[in-house]
Amino acid sequence: MRVNVSDIVKTEGAGLDVDFLGDLPELREYDTSVEFKPSFKFAGRIVNLGGLLKLSGDLHFEFNANCLRCLKQVDTVSDIQVEENFVEVSKSDDVDAYTFEGNVVDIDKPLIDNIILALPMKTICSDDCKGLCRVCGTDLNLKNCNCDEREIVDPRMEILKDYFK
Ligand SMILES: [Zn+2]
Ligand SMILES: [Zn+2]
Repeated sequence: MRVNVSDIVKTEGAGLDVDFLGDLPELREYDTSVEFKPSFKFAGRIVNLGGLLKLSGDLHFEFNANCLRCLKQVDTVSDIQVEENFVEVSKSDDVDAYTFEGNVVDIDKPLIDNIILALPMKTICSDDCKGLCRVCGTDLNLKNCNCDEREIVDPRMEILKDYFK
């Protein structure tokens, strides 16, 4: 979403509300293991503080990810706080901030960066998910199977077996 900041860019302390509801298609260029729903919601403000434009607000997004243990799809809802700064591109040399040119601030990039950082390292459908049988693939949350998982030989154990011969 591109926000016209011409009303606040020259006035210290001035601010404007930013409300966004929609998709962030560029997010799909990132290699994440999750599938985002195209219903991102951001409600916040951009305030001119000492020449920096400070973006802050609440970002809501939803995605599906597969349980690491049983591969079931898990719907996840996430609410995060976003706080980022923008600086006019000609003044960006020694400031760590997103840049903007003219009177337009594009908030997509900081929103996307914050989403990527907030994604869980791994998704598990529930703490006591039993996962899939490693022999026959049965979902052990649904039913038991009669496989003997000890049949799967850990390669490290294999080495030890030879050692003790
Ligand atoms: Zn699971
Ligand atoms: Zn099995």
